[in-house]
Amino acid sequence: MSAVNETLIRDVVSEVLGRLGGSTTATSKPASAPAAPAPNSDACGCNVTKSAAAPALRGKFGVFATAEEACGAAQEAFLQLKEKGVEARRKIENIIKTLAEKNAEAWGKLELDETKIGRLDHKIAKLQIIKLVPGVDWLRPDARSGDHGITLEEYTPFGVVGAITPSTHSIPTLSGNIVNICAAGNAVVFNAHPNAAKCAAVAVRAYNEAIYRETGIENIACIIEKPSLDSFNALCKHENTRLLLVTGGPMVVKAAMQTGKRAICAGPGNPPVFVDDTCCLTRAAKAIISGAAFDNNLLCIGEKQVFVLDQVADKLMQKLSENGGVKLNSAQLEKLTKAAFTFKEGQGGGCAHASVNKDYIGKDPSVLAQAAGMNLPSGTQLLFAETDASHPFVEEEQMMPMIPIVRVKSVEEGIAQSLKSEHNYKHTAIIHSHDVENITAMARALDTTLFVKNGPSPAGLGLGGEGYLSFSIATPTGEGITNPRTFTRVRRCVMVDNLRIY
Ligand code: NAD
Repeated sequence: MSAVNETLIRDVVSEVLGRLGGSTTATSKPASAPAAPAPNSDACGCNVTKSAAAPALRGKFGVFATAEEACGAAQEAFLQLKEKGVEARRKIENIIKTLAEKNAEAWGKLELDETKIGRLDHKIAKLQIIKLVPGVDWLRPDARSGDHGITLEEYTPFGVVGAITPSTHSIPTLSGNIVNICAAGNAVVFNAHPNAAKCAAVAVRAYNEAIYRETGIENIACIIEKPSLDSFNALCKHENTRLLLVTGGPMVVKAAMQTGKRAICAGPGNPPVFVDDTCCLTRAAKAIISGAAFDNNLLCIGEKQVFVLDQVADKLMQKLSENGGVKLNSAQLEKLTKAAFTFKEGQGGGCAHASVNKDYIGKDPSVLAQAAGMNLPSGTQLLFAETDASHPFVEEEQMMPMIPIVRVKSVEEGIAQSLKSEHNYKHTAIIHSHDVENITAMARALDTTLFVKNGPSPAGLGLGGEGYLSFSIATPTGEGITNPRTFTRVRRCVMVDNLRIY
């Protein structure tokens, strides 16, 4: 049955059931449409208009043509979730984590087929780890008790969150965002990247069908089926949208900050690695390869350029070669650079400015090698080449499995060059060192949201390091690795002179 026919049939069935006063409990697939919420269910005090439960919202399972419909459905779902309580939030969290893992292979393939960037094994891995995103249990109220009674501060939802997701990890970001946002009691509407929107809609529909079967809530996570700049603007402007979560590059961060809505922005990065002469070079090389090669270097936290003390540079490169890296000579580097970047003349006669050629973002090492005019041994994970500090591969957030290696003469120079190449994004930096003073100096100078020592970048997200996962790391706005608390309002409840029990 085609998707169109299936949707049409569901709409008709929903309407007929609605007229007959049909049951709200679905027992088998596909889920039937839920009833409208009880008329008094809008008493949330959040000053947001409750949308009428129009039949157009039934049977869509989160996938809508317009921001207006999606925001209406999400607001209705938010009110339903409020009524159904923490237990329903817990069910939603479990459904997302379970389905992401169960569908990891199919959805990973779907996303790769649509976006054509990254690696299938890592697309699958990114979905298998959604279970590491914190959930409902993360929210613990704070209490104060004293001579004047007790005070409780609780983390409560906003309502509808508008979320923008990147092409680099569409379903993983969306899935992790749903866990975080709904664990805090909110609903969410997504405007996905247009190049990764079809796979996102498949996941949203599957999640909502399962959530509806378990909780009776149909549209807790909504998506605009064909996202555009217009739908972004409509989502941001909609009165139901209380908060924005933006995951993407500089343009969308800027656009979100100009909307006037509070925006939590997970912005771009260009993570430098500094390698000194005290570290274990084998461990450093293995970590650089596993971090930079992950999903062909699409991760915003992925190692993008390496600064290494001159006296250990040759040894580091030898270790890179022994562990899945292949070195480009200067002619090969030049050919690849010409293919991977376009150069626009600087205004006023300045230097030509490089911008990344999107055709090479997230492509396999073999594709880059072809552009460089070389053949690769099988099993190659990453390309690397010696460059100077002003090379486009250092300067630009290039998101390719090719890492520039820059020699530096001192620790001070290594830290200074790392800082310059990070462009003050305050995102991620990595050091390989056993010298506590070098580590401390770099941590202080770089001032990044994530700082990883002696491991691959994903260790900063709980993958091989301690901590929890999110694919949205709020950098310019400062919330850090997003978690359920990021999407809450803190509200205080005060009992005066009583209920302190001693
Ligand atoms: P992108 O900026 O091209 O797109 C991100 C999202 O923003 C998409 O949904 C896109 O449609 C939308 N968008 C882009 N420009 C817009 C504008 N002017 N107005 C409204 N919407 C706009 O990014 P991408 O290529 O999909 O993803 C890679 C970028 O995202 C990199 O810069 C990477 O560092 C960053 N990123 C950051 C994090 C983080 O947690 N900090 C996570 C993943 C990706």
